[in-house]
Amino acid sequence: MIQKFITIVFKDVENENETKKVSVILRLNAIIMFVYFCCILGTFFLTGERTSIVLLLPCLCAYAVAFYTTYLNQTKFAAFFSVFITVDWIYIFIRRFGWDCGIQHFIFVLLVLGFTISYRKLSWKITMSALACIFRLLLYAYTNLYEPNYILEHKTSVVYQIINTIFVFVGITGILSVFTKDSMEMEQKLVQYNEKLHKLASLDPLTGLLNRRSMREYLEKRTKAYNDGHMENMALAIGDIDYFKKINDTYGHECGDLVLKELSALFTECMAGKGCISRWGGEEFLFIFRNMNGDEALLILNELNRRLKKLDIPYKGQTIKVTMTFGLSEFDFSHGIDYAVNDVDKKLYRGKEAGRDRTIY
Ligand code: GH3
Ligand code: MG
Ligand code: MG
Repeated sequence: MIQKFITIVFKDVENENETKKVSVILRLNAIIMFVYFCCILGTFFLTGERTSIVLLLPCLCAYAVAFYTTYLNQTKFAAFFSVFITVDWIYIFIRRFGWDCGIQHFIFVLLVLGFTISYRKLSWKITMSALACIFRLLLYAYTNLYEPNYILEHKTSVVYQIINTIFVFVGITGILSVFTKDSMEMEQKLVQYNEKLHKLASLDPLTGLLNRRSMREYLEKRTKAYNDGHMENMALAIGDIDYFKKINDTYGHECGDLVLKELSALFTECMAGKGCISRWGGEEFLFIFRNMNGDEALLILNELNRRLKKLDIPYKGQTIKVTMTFGLSEFDFSHGIDYAVNDVDKKLYRGKEAGRDRTIY
């Protein structure tokens, strides 16, 4: 039952350009005000203020209607209706019962409602705030000039004041809770979206490795850190698949893609905790070995090559085998990124010239 009620209150809006938050705030406000008028009804009933009861029934109906309007997918109308009836009953009730019952504090609920359900400019909201202030001052002036239409008994007036105080706080807290929860969720979504966007922009979609741009950024970061005093050894290697075109020509592009993915998975495994890898170009990969000199990096590269030789890539009942040629150097921070990449590229070229399937160091 309670679960069903919560589902109804938090029901999403159907129109794409309407927001759920505004509808939920209006619903919650309508429920709180409905309960409020029920409490006042009970109080008046128990304290014998029966002549005022007739005034409460239209308010109960009005908030029931306000609740209903939030399901019409006309959020603007629902918002206008809620604000309209709130202004009306505050005016009518203050005229009837005077200033001492604290009804005027509901203007603050109105203000918070206005700020949280409106997507208009801040200047519009400040104007609304000024109008609410004027409304309050005018009501105050009125109650100073004229006696209330009806004088409540003292004890009723005290209970009324207490109920008003409680419901003003409940109303504001309820509205702000929904608003805050929604803002936090939005912020979280934005952070996740930005992270996703950043990931998409920095990874190669086929292999999931870093792309060339993010690898360059990484190298720039390392160079800056080195220049700032965080000195560390670093080696880099470029690896290129041998006769890759032949694989595409013989088995098709799809098979070529599969080979790229399988090799990337192998590289990731072999390089775990040792540095990073990027897809530098079509079938070229750039490897960074952190905290290693060239000799140490060569050991890892040899191990990688050993596993590559053992790797069988099954494709449509056939087994694809590939070899790679590598150029390896220690990273010389004083010469910069382009120099280092050029250097390993030259070594790779030499490896290709010398017959492929080897590492030039
Ligand atoms: P070498 O041993 O001299 O490196 O010969 P190769 O055939 O590997 O080199 P070449 O530069 O002649 O050919 C590279 C091929 O890689 C050509 C291109 O179509 C292919 N290639 C580049 N990117 C992709 C890709 O994302 N998927 C597939 N399937 N093929 C790609
Ligand atoms: Mg190649
Ligand atoms: Mg190539």
